[in-house]
Amino acid sequence: MELWYTEKQTESYGITAKIKETYVHEKTEFQELAMIETEEFGTMLVLDGMVMTTDKDEFVYHEMVAHPVLFTHPNPKHVLIVGGGDGGVVREVMKHPKVEKAVLVDIDGKVIEYSKKYLPQIACELDNPRVEVIVNDGFMHIHDHKDTYDVIMVDSTEPVGPAANLFTRGFYQGIYEALKADGLFVAQTDNPWFKAELIASVNRDVREVFPIVRVYGANVPTYPSGLWTFTVGSKTYDPLEVDEASIPEIATKYYTPRLHKAAFALPKFVEDLIK
Ligand code: SAM
Repeated sequence: MELWYTEKQTESYGITAKIKETYVHEKTEFQELAMIETEEFGTMLVLDGMVMTTDKDEFVYHEMVAHPVLFTHPNPKHVLIVGGGDGGVVREVMKHPKVEKAVLVDIDGKVIEYSKKYLPQIACELDNPRVEVIVNDGFMHIHDHKDTYDVIMVDSTEPVGPAANLFTRGFYQGIYEALKADGLFVAQTDNPWFKAELIASVNRDVREVFPIVRVYGANVPTYPSGLWTFTVGSKTYDPLEVDEASIPEIATKYYTPRLHKAAFALPKFVEDLIK
């Protein structure tokens, strides 16, 4: 018998992948968690029926969360990752020798535990001595830490369940206060095909808090529509003013110094959303 996993991305559309094996399917304290083996994408982490990451295409998202902001800040010593319990963003952050300490705050310890077991090539830096892993609500952590971080990365689930608070103006204000005087942040902000309103409203909220706001995109095949957006809010440094020639080549599969600014060139219908 063939088993297929389907993520309903709207009420009438979804993506589907053939399942080889189901390793985990349980309700944690915060969400429904599944770890499945698929033929096309390898191991897949699914939370509340939404694909979080897969072996095959994880590098796109994780590199594109970490490198654009880390190569924009001239001295990113202290980094916070909100969410990101699979460890993929931490793995990319650890490629930056200037980072002295990265703090990862995920609300769900089960995501961390199962990622270490079933996604070891993604979770491989979670035990690095430069990394501190905290199981807590990112919203609380942000509000308890003022003037602390150079760079904050929000690698959260979609704005439902435990992540609903992470897409609010109050959260962006908290991030502003948790950042040092020249800090910047990036958040994953979903896709412009099915979540156009979300991208527009996040953009409005971040603009009310940060003087510099930029949006860039990347292609992630297992995320709804494939076209994913990321929103940057910055106090001082503009990712578009980075001298690409000064960015060192590091071991990546998607991000390159050439792509640094190119990723900010958006299709017209996405530009129109954030005018
Ligand atoms: N890359 C994925 C995507 O865009 O689909 C998201 C990655 S997944 C690792 C996101 C993580 O955010 C989950 O592990 C979840 O537990 C965590 N999360 C959700 N709400 C949170 C909150 N309020 N504080 C901290 N972590 C949260």
